Amino acid sequence: MININEYTLKELEEYIENLEEKKFHAKQIFKWLHKEQVESFDDMTDISKSLREKLKKQCEIVKLQVIEVQKSKDGTHKFLLSLSDSNAIESVFMKYNHGNTICVSTQVGCKMGCKFCASTKEGYKRNLLASEIEGQIVAIEKYMKEKISNVVYMGIGEPLDNYDNVVKSIRQINNPMGLGIGARHISLSTSGIVPNIYKLADEKIQATLSISLHATTDKKRKEIMPITNKYGTKELLEACRYYIMQTGRRISFEYALIHGVNDSKNDAIELAKLLRGMIAHVNLIPVNEIKEKEYTKSKEESIKQFMTTLNSMGIITTVRRELGKDIDAACGQLRQRYLK
Ligand code: SAH
Repeated sequence: MININEYTLKELEEYIENLEEKKFHAKQIFKWLHKEQVESFDDMTDISKSLREKLKKQCEIVKLQVIEVQKSKDGTHKFLLSLSDSNAIESVFMKYNHGNTICVSTQVGCKMGCKFCASTKEGYKRNLLASEIEGQIVAIEKYMKEKISNVVYMGIGEPLDNYDNVVKSIRQINNPMGLGIGARHISLSTSGIVPNIYKLADEKIQATLSISLHATTDKKRKEIMPITNKYGTKELLEACRYYIMQTGRRISFEYALIHGVNDSKNDAIELAKLLRGMIAHVNLIPVNEIKEKEYTKSKEESIKQFMTTLNSMGIITTVRRELGKDIDAACGQLRQRYLK
């Protein structure tokens, strides 16, 4: 069976023409699938019965199922969703002043092996399809009965390790005939797959890029993020400069503050030096403590000192508001519990 949600509008047009039907039906069908989010071909009321029958024979409309929802007092909802092969992934719904935001997963598991991250613990299973990335938004809009205006690619998985499907999903989500979420409302976070940062810069997508930096020297970064063995910090920042040059967009650097590991005043000074002259913004994240790991959250004073140091050196810095404190908020925690 064809997973019809995987087709881009152009692919759908070709497919419809191959069925010896008029091309314009593709637009109608695309809207039914991606905007109206119907679950059955019979709901496509302006499509002839004969075409619907043809579609039913060859295609299926694949949906993600909600397995579990954790609700936080602050309005954050964490979802465990199952895919058609019964693998499970996580997505998070958050309420911000600038709109409803969803954090999507891009892979089942992750290969990156970052020491502080729960997503990587059970290893890597497979890439998500573009339709499975978009499907997370669809499933959650349906469950919440609310529209989602912002998407962050910061759930389980490394988006730039699933490059083609991720870029395709951004284009699908962007499409005004579908969800119509503007690229400027989409952020993608990477641990630093350097060649694909260059590739993304050349795509001419206006999405915001976030870099999970977390340390300023190769030595320290290697300890917590093994990807640094492949792509050094200097190379990574070079790629970031290229991204800014090509897109004109500001980059957001994520920095998880871990007690005694990367949170000294000197670390802040080195970070400011590293980012000097870049159109950048630092987002400090008090590390989410996960079980079986020795890392603990930085002390309140260290977080303040880190922020003041960066600010005084001209680096725009925010501390990420901790949403979902009372639920398994850290990436991968809910799935990990489910697997057990
Ligand atoms: N693989 C991508 C996207 C997923 S992780 C990346 O690395 O950017 C999304 C963000 O959450 C990253 O910045 C990641 O470093 C951070 N993160 C993961 N585990 C965390 C934890 N326990 N506490 C705080 N931030 C964490």
